[in-house]
Amino acid sequence: MDPTAPLADTIAAIATAVVPEQGSVGIVRLSGSRALPIVQAIFTPARRNAVWESHRLLYGWIRDEKGQILDEALAVWMQAPRSYTREDVTELHCHGGIMVVQATLQQCLRQGARLAQPGEFSLRAFLNGRIDLTQAESVADLVAARSPQAARMALAGLQGKLGGSIRALRQELLGLLAEIEARLDFEEDLPPLDVAAWQARLQAIQAQMQALLATAERGQLLRTGVKVAIVGRPNVGKSSLLNAWSGQDRAIVTDLPGTTRDLVESHLVVKGIPVQLLDTAGIRATEDPVERLGVERSQRLAQAADVLVLVIDAQAGWTAADAAIYESIRHRPLILVINKTDLAPPEGIPLPPEIAHRVPAVAAQGKGIPELERALEQLVTQGRPQPNLEISLNQRQAAALRQAQASLEQVGQAIQAQLPLDFWSIDLRGALHALGQITGEEISESVLDQIFSRFCIGK
Ligand code: GDP
Repeated sequence: MDPTAPLADTIAAIATAVVPEQGSVGIVRLSGSRALPIVQAIFTPARRNAVWESHRLLYGWIRDEKGQILDEALAVWMQAPRSYTREDVTELHCHGGIMVVQATLQQCLRQGARLAQPGEFSLRAFLNGRIDLTQAESVADLVAARSPQAARMALAGLQGKLGGSIRALRQELLGLLAEIEARLDFEEDLPPLDVAAWQARLQAIQAQMQALLATAERGQLLRTGVKVAIVGRPNVGKSSLLNAWSGQDRAIVTDLPGTTRDLVESHLVVKGIPVQLLDTAGIRATEDPVERLGVERSQRLAQAADVLVLVIDAQAGWTAADAAIYESIRHRPLILVINKTDLAPPEGIPLPPEIAHRVPAVAAQGKGIPELERALEQLVTQGRPQPNLEISLNQRQAAALRQAQASLEQVGQAIQAQLPLDFWSIDLRGALHALGQITGEEISESVLDQIFSRFCIGK
């Protein structure tokens, strides 16, 4: 995608998820100067005297080039600049599934629309000044959100809260820069710079940056979540634990429909963190003796997971087979679940002392799940108190903010070394540039390209 390409052409894409047999509505979206005539060419309103008015739905039929009816649909025109992209936008709300939306999209392309690149609608919204870069990125985050907390964060970003704080920091830095520039230009006419006061303002900005950066890690966790695999030898209660855990009442539990992959996944949310439970159902049966011990399987799972839950049977104690599995995964973040504590007490089992997270459980009765969740949160947050996030930086934004921080540290060093004011000004400008990359005020085409190409088509 070339962000400098003229925005003159009209783009089209399917804006909803395309899944066979699913979705009662599928939306084809167009943006650009020909968005309305293209839709008018393929959509006939049911009412003969219907008028196309901005932001008003019309009911009617979509037809192919031979005049055959493809679908019964709704059409809407959103006249520029009152639209997502600030261009003329039209939408055709067809029936869902795949056939009709695809056919409708084809008709739009036949009429001269170009298939949109991933993220191109949002890119146009950004280039036309409707949203800043943090808001555009939040659109992608909101769609990708897998926990209510992640969705809330994305929504705050969409409302411009992150962009607002970055712009405020930029304003303060510009104020500091102005004082220096003024003295570089008109040194004789101005009182000397109050270095202590100036430095205090700089430090206040640095503290705010630090606070923002502290949100990045938690935000990342809430956005991407963790993959957890339950391992252990046969019959210790792995499936029972998985069922008890994923079967609990919670905000989000989805099972991916009939995938052909090795691993079946369940998604749940633990203390705001999206957790993907990797199930081993698909790779359970085997005749291989090593495999039967569970060592190899545990290793394979360990590669796919961020956190491993090793289950043992309290009645059997710490067996040689448990130890073999443990040896193969001990370098990974690990929680030990001592299961079947209804049959034998968890105490007194000679466990390796370095295993810090131990959770007694009765998986068959769903007991021990809250403790397991607490251990998981502890493990992934490393016990650090977690900020209650409203806004949070993504990795790209955090990297830019760190760059700004580094520049400001150099300003501090320049002051210490009593270097002339020009040196302060160079580094201040460096920091301003880095902040501008977060909001998109100063950004290169290649970075833009990278950001928007991660979007899915139709956004
Ligand atoms: P897996 O092979 O590790 O997945 O183990 P399963 O979950 O299939 O459990 C093996 C057997 O242990 C089943 O008969 C379960 O009902 C039983 N089981 C699982 N958890 C417990 C528990 O906490 N207490 C008792 N008494 N039995 C359990």
